Amino acid sequence: GAEVVFDDVRFRYDPDREILKGVSFTAKPGEKVAIVGPSGAGKSTIARILYRFYDLEGGSVRIDGQDLRDVTQRSLRASIGMVPQDTVLFNDTVGYNIRYGRPGATQAEVERAAKLAQIHDFVLSLPKGYDTLVGERGLKLSGGEKQRVAIARTILKDPPLLILDEATSALDSTTEAGILSALREVENGRTTLVIAHRLSTIVDSDRIVVLREGRVVEEGTHDALLARG
Ligand code: ADP
Ligand code: ADP
Repeated sequence: GAEVVFDDVRFRYDPDREILKGVSFTAKPGEKVAIVGPSGAGKSTIARILYRFYDLEGGSVRIDGQDLRDVTQRSLRASIGMVPQDTVLFNDTVGYNIRYGRPGATQAEVERAAKLAQIHDFVLSLPKGYDTLVGERGLKLSGGEKQRVAIARTILKDPPLLILDEATSALDSTTEAGILSALREVENGRTTLVIAHRLSTIVDSDRIVVLREGRVVEEGTHDALLARG
């Protein structure tokens, strides 16, 4: 797994409003770190900065000791699996969308990823199975189905760093639990950042970072946070 270090990160979308006001935290290799906090706190912004949708304005982000600014976007994205809340799929087949995670994958590997993402049976029920076009007239995937395709893609990609940004928010808790335990199964010491508000999503995290108005206001294990009240 990768080590992620945020050090005094500052960021704003608009000149007149600072969104991240000096955010520092560390995700050690193999850790699952939950980022929680009220809506608007800046949680998704952290994910977007890590994936280099935006450049930071102050401070630094390092992955395995390397400053984000010194890594090409291409090589950075090759090592990160990012599952956003609102997944946009390619207007292509379900199989293509999953295979995008690792273009050389065999069909058996694609199907295994789909099983782990709890989507295999659903895909088989489609008119042409994995060859069904996701944008085909009459076939609209639900938000939860899209999320699971994106998760299957990430399982296939098997990155050292996984970012789940409300990635299971559209799923019922039983399906979510199945996917989270599947992700642990294929873990390989992966570092995971999970942004979520449901307790069931973050309950097995090694550490919790509480963000409020662009600042880390608490950081620690569940037990430590509970003990502090
Ligand atoms: P969270 O994930 O904690 O709900 P976000 O990181 O999505 O918070 O957003 C933090 C703040 O930044 C919010 O006030 C939001 O309105 C603002 N924001 C998010 N995206 C943009 C954008 N593209 N342009 C301007 N402001 C944005
Ligand atoms: P790369 O540099 O790896 O080609 P991209 O920016 O093209 O990265 O895509 C990064 C990730 O975002 C992909 O792995 C994919 O999951 C997702 N993605 C990007 N664009 C789309 C799109 N148009 N439809 C679906 N998923 C997309």
